[in-house]
Amino acid sequence: MRLSRYFLPILKENPKEAEIVSHRFMLRAGMIRQHGQGIYSWLPLGKRVLDKVNRIIREEQDRSGAVELLMPTMQSADLWIESGRYEAYGKEMLRITDRQDRAMLFGPTNEEMITEIFRSSVKSYKQLPLNLYHIQWKFRDEIRPRFGTMRSREFMMKDAYSFDLTREGAEHSYRKMFAAYLRTFDRLGLRAIPMRADTGPIGGNLSHEFIILAETGESEVFCHRDFVKFDIPAEDLDFDNVEKLQGIFDQWTSLYAATDEMHDADAFDALPEGERLSARGIEVGHIFYFGTKYSEPMNAMVQGPDGKEHPVHMGSYGIGPTRLVPAIIEASHDENGIIWPDSVAPFDAVIINMKVSDEACGSVSERLYEALSNAGLDVLYDDTDERAGAKFATADLIGVPNQIVVGPRGVAAGEVEVKNRRSGERVAMSVDAAIARLTAGR
Ligand code: ATP
Ligand code: MG
Repeated sequence: MRLSRYFLPILKENPKEAEIVSHRFMLRAGMIRQHGQGIYSWLPLGKRVLDKVNRIIREEQDRSGAVELLMPTMQSADLWIESGRYEAYGKEMLRITDRQDRAMLFGPTNEEMITEIFRSSVKSYKQLPLNLYHIQWKFRDEIRPRFGTMRSREFMMKDAYSFDLTREGAEHSYRKMFAAYLRTFDRLGLRAIPMRADTGPIGGNLSHEFIILAETGESEVFCHRDFVKFDIPAEDLDFDNVEKLQGIFDQWTSLYAATDEMHDADAFDALPEGERLSARGIEVGHIFYFGTKYSEPMNAMVQGPDGKEHPVHMGSYGIGPTRLVPAIIEASHDENGIIWPDSVAPFDAVIINMKVSDEACGSVSERLYEALSNAGLDVLYDDTDERAGAKFATADLIGVPNQIVVGPRGVAAGEVEVKNRRSGERVAMSVDAAIARLTAGR
């Protein structure tokens, strides 16, 4: 991508409305644009990151055996009346009336709709287990939308729904998602801690929130310090291996970790001082086993091996991609801007041509651009006629992991400078060496 033809509306000044660093950098880097309370456009740079986050989420859902579909944002109130949640959901639900005076709503979540899809076509336990997911916009009329896309009203969610004949089966499905989430957050460069969460009026003890520790987090959390030591499930994990999945779950739930609603001060205070961590956190995922809460009222039944009809056992599993993007920034930045983990960086490398009027700089930049693009890298080529200082500032602000600086003096000596955004290390090398370094392993 040539920056001269891209759309990157960088802000020079700090936007006053941004209270936290991720919101500030997302606005300054031209990733998002606000239209109203909690409503945002994702501009090209932001869209690139969001797509990469979604790709990782999708790959890990697919790996675990979940199957993707796409449900609409608009829903009819009928299904919600059936489940009993139409009234119960309260003011967070945006209710709409269509021209025929039918009650509609903008979906805040999709349990009812997926149950309707399920009950209309699955009749036998032989079609189970099943896990269906989608990545779709949601709307919740949050009382306090804030911090940019961290807590917005329209936001994206990956929501998955599992269906099993028995409680044991459903618990295994839950552990599959638990492991898939650990892998997902790890690939996003985050260490998310599963914390016991409130199951609300449904009861049972199977619900975990995945929390990233960050000073700007909205939740107060309490956990053991040793979560950093635990292993992430391997890529070739066999998701049908019940014992293996149980082992992962047991390890990751063996230490104290709770949000303030579930906090047990006595149990926590009994831990040695050096092991206790009380901090703030951002909820990036929430998984839930809720048994037959929807299948019973909505009559989603399957025939079991005994020939009888059984209400299906369900779970739901949410991750918020549009919250994850700022959460990653909260976890990875410095005073100059964002530092993207390689896995979600909008571009792998930026070529900074310090003097576009110089023919030699132009031809070296073009050569780099072509070679790196051909090797499959996402490359941004800063071919604008901005000052060198402004170009460096932009490259640091938008957080591209590798910067290649092409300047007249270096080029005369046959060299370019390769800078690593995270370590700050700068190394001068030949153009060929720079290409070899950035394409290594491709
Ligand atoms: P919170 O307590 O933060 O309001 P929630 O418990 O209402 O979250 P869930 O219904 O469990 O959220 O939704 C699953 C995921 O969707 C959350 O873990 C979060 O990543 C994301 N999410 C929920 N609400 C928002 C929002 N207003 N803005 C952005 N992402 C959100
Ligand atoms: Mg909420």
